[in-house]
Amino acid sequence: MNITVGVLALQGAFREHLHLLQRASEYILKNVLDARLDITFVFHEIRTAEKLSLCDALIIPGGESTTISLVAARSNLLEPLRDFVKLQRKPTWGTCAGLILLAESANRTKQGGQELIGGLDVRVNRNHFGRQVESFVADLDLPFLHGISTGTDGAGSAFQGIFIRAPVVERILPHVQGEQKGEEQRQDTVIAPLRQAEGVEARRALSKDVEVLGLLPDRIKKAGLKASSGEGEAEAGDIIAVRQGNVFGTSFHPELTGDIRIHVWWLRQLMQRAEEFENSSLADG
Ligand code: GLN
Repeated sequence: MNITVGVLALQGAFREHLHLLQRASEYILKNVLDARLDITFVFHEIRTAEKLSLCDALIIPGGESTTISLVAARSNLLEPLRDFVKLQRKPTWGTCAGLILLAESANRTKQGGQELIGGLDVRVNRNHFGRQVESFVADLDLPFLHGISTGTDGAGSAFQGIFIRAPVVERILPHVQGEQKGEEQRQDTVIAPLRQAEGVEARRALSKDVEVLGLLPDRIKKAGLKASSGEGEAEAGDIIAVRQGNVFGTSFHPELTGDIRIHVWWLRQLMQRAEEFENSSLADG
């Protein structure tokens, strides 16, 4: 069985994602004992709707969300992307600019600047930490990685989060798109359009809760440094990783590190999903 994973290759760090996907898939084949050896990953750069239609899953990389959205619009890709994420509900992961595009609402957006794909019922605040020069690296504790050790990156060790003009999730919105009360009235805010065929009822039935998968504690943010080890209790902080059903988003750039753990985790989920589909179609048939 093939699982075809696309990386949107209009602008930004798509090559870096493809590189880590390749490494992560090799790692899974060699080291994950219960992985099905008849599952093969195929990776593609995606620039057209035709190519997108071949994909089972997609990554939208970091870069510049306004540019990615403008090029996507010019390439007639925005609507196919919305269908992919919100109607076909195929697994999609956005990093940094990709997270912005997958949000249902985004702040600090100039009029006519950018259109969203949507899929995550959240409002992101763009450039939350300031300008390019205020970029930073922070050691993150990401509980969903606790079980994953890839040798070089030990299980449970901190994940180096690279934040470059990064967004954060500043609000989790009610489930029902099209009824995001007040979002469309906010200044400098853009919201994702309701998909015609999606319909409010369909969305209500399909929607899952937004899960917070990672926080950047305040003390790390303020210091702009690595977390000091072990002292103090876990504090609330900025939301920098979320998942809602098929859609996953991170504020930071795993693709700019050599750490494959998040890519391994995400590919393993695609494998599980493929196996579930296979079993359910066997049961149906
Ligand atoms: N701030 C950028 C934007 O709005 C995202 C930055 C990034 O992807 N590193 O698109």
